[in-house]
Amino acid sequence: MGLKLFNTLSRSIQDFAPLTPPKVGMYCCGPTVYDFAHIGNWRTFVFADLVRRYLEFKNFQVTHVMNITDIEDKIIKRVRETKTTLPEFTGKFESAFFEDLKTLNCLSPHQTPRATEHIPEIISLIEKLIARGIAYKAADGSVYFSIEKYRGFGCNYGQLLKLNFNEMRAGERVKSDEYAKESVADFALWKSRVPDDADIFWPSPFGEGRPGWHIECSAMSMKILEASFDIHLGGEDLIFPHHEDEIAQSEGATGKPFVKYWLHGAHLLVEGKKMSKSLGNYFTLRDLMAKGLSGREVRYLLITAHYRETFNFTLEGLAGAKTALARIDECVGKLSEIADRTNAAPNSKILEQFSAALDDDLNISAAWGEIFKWVTETNKRIAENSLQAADAAASLAAWHMIDSVLGVGTKNDIEIPADITALAEDRIAAKKSKDFKRSDAIRDELKAKGWVIEDSPKGYKLKKL
Ligand code: AMP
Ligand code: ZN
Repeated sequence: MGLKLFNTLSRSIQDFAPLTPPKVGMYCCGPTVYDFAHIGNWRTFVFADLVRRYLEFKNFQVTHVMNITDIEDKIIKRVRETKTTLPEFTGKFESAFFEDLKTLNCLSPHQTPRATEHIPEIISLIEKLIARGIAYKAADGSVYFSIEKYRGFGCNYGQLLKLNFNEMRAGERVKSDEYAKESVADFALWKSRVPDDADIFWPSPFGEGRPGWHIECSAMSMKILEASFDIHLGGEDLIFPHHEDEIAQSEGATGKPFVKYWLHGAHLLVEGKKMSKSLGNYFTLRDLMAKGLSGREVRYLLITAHYRETFNFTLEGLAGAKTALARIDECVGKLSEIADRTNAAPNSKILEQFSAALDDDLNISAAWGEIFKWVTETNKRIAENSLQAADAAASLAAWHMIDSVLGVGTKNDIEIPADITALAEDRIAAKKSKDFKRSDAIRDELKAKGWVIEDSPKGYKLKKL
């Protein structure tokens, strides 16, 4: 069966047919680096990772691009408040983002362009829009996208959602990067320099200033992919205005259809509520790590629900994730023992069931259902002693293919952080020099950090608690 995906553009489930198979160009709106990404953001980025991994499982050659929004209204405000410089401020959150991406075992996107490194491309896109008469410089010195002119060319503003233009007055403008659909208006492509921007500005043919958020993604996606590409992803909150504006700017400049499939992930709630710092239910990945959770457990939980369903993140759910992963680990561990390095082709039955579920608009809950059915059946056969080494090897090979999509790994694959390894090495050194007080203290420290160390004649083994 072929892959089917829900396309926000057609509001329907469609067969996935990329523009130039087997190549797939995929762009995901990346983080705005003004803070640590929260687990809602991570739901969206892990969703993008899952899409990419599944396309690769299906032998597509994916180019995965994810931008870094390192210039935008919220960033400017925070730079001002923290009295830092733009690169200092965004650099810190960008590094944290890439560390977290690893913790969650997301594959690195092939390209992660920064907006501030694409100012010439942004300027040239704006110039094209001005030359076509779709953008104009207003009295405040900023350059705006004219929705009226764009529509006048027969172009459709409101491709991703229905908009009511009756209330809209021609030329009404909005300068901020985020606004509601009720205030649909000409939006800023280039924001002229104001005192609050301090030294954050670039020269341009339209005067000193900085780009609007929406034009950044149009410029970077079309530069790295093509003017028309296959998949654009993001959280559902980006449908309007961000993605609608991306379409308008890109199609307005090139006259070509911008993106074939728009995929939007539903939001994550925590304990049934929208995350907010005042409610105390706002978690970054780091907050969860500090509670002793692993990236693997969080990843598992983030990919248990269908991407188009709102996901309710609960601490109880995390406990469930631990149990579910332990069941898989136990089964895979026993399969490895029975297979005992026998090689076999992957068991096609479970692979077919798994991919039939994901082909159906990435129905991950159905895919997990098949996996746990397989775990139960496998455990039963192991208990009955009816599983031969070749069967176990075939099952194991299938699991590795499945996990190339899920990315939850098995317990043994867990990467040991460098500081933990360093502590373990210090402990060995302390033992060698017969400083047992220190070696015991290090053992306790490791335990407090969630790791147990087991000694054996061959050396030591670190295990996650
Ligand atoms: P930002 O860094 O704010 O630009 O957001 C990065 C990504 O996270 C975007 O694709 C957003 O749509 C997505 N996002 C923001 N909040 C949530 C949430 N609560 N649940 C899921 N995705 C979210
Ligand atoms: Zn974007």
